Amino acid sequence: MLNDPRSHGLWEKTAPAAPQTTSLKGDLSADVVIVGGGFTGLSSALHLAERGAKVAVLEAVEIGFGGSGRNVGLVNAGMWVMPDDLPGVLGEDYGGRLLRLLGNAPDLVFELIGKHGIACEAVRTGTLHCGVGAAGVKELEQRAEQWARRGAPVHLLNAEETAKKVGSTAYAASLLDLRAGTIQPLGYVRGLARAAIEAGAQIFTGTPVVATEREGQRWSVKTPEGSVSADWIVVATNAYTKAPWPEVRAELVHLPYFNFATKPLSENIRAFILPERQGAWDTKEILSSFRFDVQGRLVFGSVGALRGTGTAVHRIWARRALARIFPDIGEVEFEAGWYGKIGMTADSLPKFHRLAPNVIGFSGYNGRGIAPGTVFGQVLARHISGEIAEADLPLPVTDPQEQRFRTLREAYYEAGSQIAHLAGTII
Ligand SMILES: Cc1cc2nc3c(=O)[nH]c(=O)nc-3n(C[C@H](O)[C@H](O)[C@H](O)COP(=O)(O)OP(=O)(O)OC[C@H]3O[C@@H](n4cnc5c(N)ncnc54)[C@H](O)[C@@H]3O)c2cc1C
Repeated sequence: MLNDPRSHGLWEKTAPAAPQTTSLKGDLSADVVIVGGGFTGLSSALHLAERGAKVAVLEAVEIGFGGSGRNVGLVNAGMWVMPDDLPGVLGEDYGGRLLRLLGNAPDLVFELIGKHGIACEAVRTGTLHCGVGAAGVKELEQRAEQWARRGAPVHLLNAEETAKKVGSTAYAASLLDLRAGTIQPLGYVRGLARAAIEAGAQIFTGTPVVATEREGQRWSVKTPEGSVSADWIVVATNAYTKAPWPEVRAELVHLPYFNFATKPLSENIRAFILPERQGAWDTKEILSSFRFDVQGRLVFGSVGALRGTGTAVHRIWARRALARIFPDIGEVEFEAGWYGKIGMTADSLPKFHRLAPNVIGFSGYNGRGIAPGTVFGQVLARHISGEIAEADLPLPVTDPQEQRFRTLREAYYEAGSQIAHLAGTII
């Protein structure tokens, strides 16, 4: 089964086919049940299966149905939170550990792509965080200094250097991060699924988990037409969580984010926009991102949902914004548009939860889940296999905290992005 091109846009059109899977019918026994077929769940499945565990992945819809099949494809290092601020927020131990883990996280993504031959248009020429205005430049200067002090290969580029790398004079500076890169995200998540199956994991799609029951020391995980009995449950449902863990969803505010993909651009336009093929985004509060796919389509995104009036508002804005950033781009035609829900936490940091005995998971990646989901999946596998004690995990165990005025804030983001983009098309 495929995802719908209307929901997964360009990535559904160009990703290699998903491995054959079916829904679960009947009862099964495993060591670990993983709920959710995105980066976190499938990395966890792959690394557990490689360690000899019997693994069953249960995915409500299809591999990559959630954020993993809809994102921009920027394989970022680190987080939104400034490196120097992390120890203050999480304490020295966790702060240092999380920084090291997520600072190096793109390594694991590109290593897995190489090791398993995953066809996902991987390009590792870095990312460009582009500075807008004095505040944007200041943020980049601080990030550059703090990462460079830690030995990371980051470079602060001035306006002229940025113009050459981006192909636009719209930015006052940029931060080139050579740890990072871009992928075709649906191709990557399907590749993880294939690698997990080859390592021995079973994956069931069209199989929502509807309930769980404790049976002695084990869990019985119920689906509409079957069940799996297991010692452990990994909850890897993040922003697309459905029952039976509503608390994971309640901790997140959904931020809608859309992408439009142009038709392949002409050779000469491709030669001056992002000539080295970095992925880019800017420092604005309602940020924009842009990157190429392998066929020379420019994928351009920003905050907002492509539904109702949003579809037309954001489409018109995207055309004009592209013309503003790249005045020579000419008339562009979009061949795909799609959007997804980003799960934002109150402090912009991911969370580790133990929802019940032996029921664990990471969530809340704040729009940075490719590399973190991949490494957290590996961490879960190592923890379940007894290689890492709970005290040595990269995040402390916290109880999910429902965010206040969640529905109101989600409506505000959706409407606010339309107002901002409408204003942006008029000014
Ligand atoms: C538009 C957009 C752009 C983004 N851009 C970037 C980017 O450029 N770089 C980056 O690093 N990150 C980005 N992100 C974030 C990133 O995509 C996510 O953080 C990441 O995909 C989360 O992976 P996951 O495996 O934890 O969850 P998901 O990929 O969301 O997977 C969760 C899965 O759980 C399933 N599920 C839910 N409930 C149940 C249930 N009860 N039973 C069975 N299955 C269930 C869902 O169907 C879903 O497939 C972006 C996100 C979006 C939406």
